[in-house]
Amino acid sequence: NPLRDDVAGPAPRHQTTQVMVGDVAVGGGAPIVVQSMTNTDTADVEGTIKQIAALARAGSEMVRITVDREEAAAAVPHIRDGIRKLGLTTPLIGDFHYIGHKLLAEYPACAEALDKYRINPGNVGFKNKRDTQFADIVEIAIRNNKAVRIGANWGSLDQELLTKLMDENAASANPRDVRAVTREAMVQSALLSAARAEEIGLPKTKMILSAKVSAVQDLIAVYQDLASRSDYAIHLGLTEAGMGSKGIVASSAALGILLQQGIGDTIRISLTPEPGGDRTREVQVAQELLQTMGFRTFVPLVAACPGCGRTTSTTFQELARSIQDFIRDEMPEWRSRYPGVENLNVAVMGCIVNGPGESKHANIGISLPGTGESPAAPVFVDGQKFRTLRGDTIAADFKALVIDYIEQ
Ligand code: SF4
Repeated sequence: NPLRDDVAGPAPRHQTTQVMVGDVAVGGGAPIVVQSMTNTDTADVEGTIKQIAALARAGSEMVRITVDREEAAAAVPHIRDGIRKLGLTTPLIGDFHYIGHKLLAEYPACAEALDKYRINPGNVGFKNKRDTQFADIVEIAIRNNKAVRIGANWGSLDQELLTKLMDENAASANPRDVRAVTREAMVQSALLSAARAEEIGLPKTKMILSAKVSAVQDLIAVYQDLASRSDYAIHLGLTEAGMGSKGIVASSAALGILLQQGIGDTIRISLTPEPGGDRTREVQVAQELLQTMGFRTFVPLVAACPGCGRTTSTTFQELARSIQDFIRDEMPEWRSRYPGVENLNVAVMGCIVNGPGESKHANIGISLPGTGESPAAPVFVDGQKFRTLRGDTIAADFKALVIDYIEQ
């Protein structure tokens, strides 16, 4: 039955315990949070402040920075002060591996400046002599009233736990395949570490879990399992997603499916930047994923047709691109001046076939003339034909109409 309404829309959100990271709520029904991570040397205070500000202005609601050595730990409070001076309240997350316990103990101002600590249970375990490392970080988090993310990662999985599960599997009557056992090790690593942190005294309201994998099907299976076995707030991300379209497609496929199933309270799209590329791209992709799926709205959407043999001039592509870039550039200011502007829909279409129809569905849309059509571009506002643009200034004129529409 094509009219069935029980097949439309995402599953109800997986019920998780809400965690406050600074002043940003994660889980427990809060809007799905977009986060990102810097790739500057954290010891470079100025460079890191600049990148955090760029990520925050692009829409990153939390930003993670690596804290890998003493110089980085010493820089953290200055970075926090620097971004606050810019008027940004973005929570900062410290990414710790191996010596995180020492850095947090020896640099209390760093421990205080961060809003959340990320621990990798693969390299800060708790079953042997490293036990105190994990406990130390958790205790520092409790003392400073900070949140913790326990982030298991396929590439740095707890080897002791993995070996134990592999041995048990080999001895069992019906051994499972190696990938399934590795997935189970990922889930157990996160859950056992979370249980240990609770034992030490960190409440669930301070804990977020992740279990990142680089293969899409494994990632989906791991997170489905994690969600079905706990109610901790969940950070979603595909690790080592890759460069360019491969990273975007893999992340969107994996995260899109999980989000549709109600799983995920905060997301990071990990894209390998092109050399000299813009780090804010991952924020843009994360926002577009959430917005195209209907979970949140961040910036007005520009619907554009793909173009075809009916659009032989470059006018159509140029206008679609320039409108999209223009809107994105103006958004930081528009957001404060025009509440709700992010819900705007704009259409830029290439010819008469779908142009008028699609433009009527948008708040404001333009149907450019295709090959052989008369050189006129009708503009539609709220479903009605509003004006026809002609000549060499169509792009500038349409931009002006978009601004007028927003202002009104
Ligand atoms: Fe081609 Fe026109 Fe369809 Fe755009 S709207 S893809 S130009 S036929």
